[in-house]
Amino acid sequence: MRYAGPVYRPPSEADSLLLQVTLGCSHNECTYCAMYRHKTFQARPLADVLADVEEARRLAPDTRRVFLMDGDAMTLSTARLVPVLEALNAAFPALQRVGSYVNAVSVLRKPDAELARLRDLKLTIGYLGLETGDPATAARIVKGATVDEEVEAVRRAQAAGIKMSVMVLLGIGGRARWREHAEATADALTRMDPRYVSCLCVTPVPGTPFFDEVARGDVELPSPDETLDELRVLVDRMRLTGAVFRSNHASNYLPLGGRLPADRARLLAVIDAARRGDVPLVPEEYRGL
Ligand code: SF4
Repeated sequence: MRYAGPVYRPPSEADSLLLQVTLGCSHNECTYCAMYRHKTFQARPLADVLADVEEARRLAPDTRRVFLMDGDAMTLSTARLVPVLEALNAAFPALQRVGSYVNAVSVLRKPDAELARLRDLKLTIGYLGLETGDPATAARIVKGATVDEEVEAVRRAQAAGIKMSVMVLLGIGGRARWREHAEATADALTRMDPRYVSCLCVTPVPGTPFFDEVARGDVELPSPDETLDELRVLVDRMRLTGAVFRSNHASNYLPLGGRLPADRARLLAVIDAARRGDVPLVPEEYRGL
């Protein structure tokens, strides 16, 4: 496999074959994101991608999961994605699912029939960074899509049978808009009703506009305890019909996991205990990006 690094994947794709079908991110402007800042977005030549699939077939014929990289494979046309997915299905008889990060606008550009075609070829999970449901915060961090578009993208993908995992960022509203951010994010998640929700905690990365905003004092980050207040509003307020909820990414101060709505009371009890100081938070030096 030939990778043009650095490469990223969600924690739940740790055992997946990583296949680079694009380089970089087609948006690449979110102010807090450093992942692909130095990569120019481009589609990898189809022949190179298919050569990687062939190599993986020889090395790991029992592959069951594949994750398409980099930032947003869904930005490729369906005509370009189909031969890749067909090659994966042909190469790996045990293939269960293919996943990808997805941007809302890339999903919305595809008609329902195309989303269903991708689903039929086992592209059955998408990871979307909502980050915030607060329109003012979404505009400040240059998400590249409105909250309504993010909601519609998740609903359309899931209606086509593509399960959606939605990521949100504690702290991204800063102290000034923490409550608006938490409440609106809970409401956007309620409208999306995704199958998975992951909470991360924003960490300013040097070289990003968000880092500079924080350094200048334009954005004041909440304290660890204040991120628990955001987490509490989120867990208490969102109404999902059945989702896995996690805040176990390395960036979090309080790792949680459970199902919503079934585990809501337990999750709130743990958050309240942590807020009282009865449950230790992850020390700053152990947090990761
Ligand atoms: S869409 Fe995702 S990968 Fe692209 S800049 Fe925003 S956060 Fe980074």
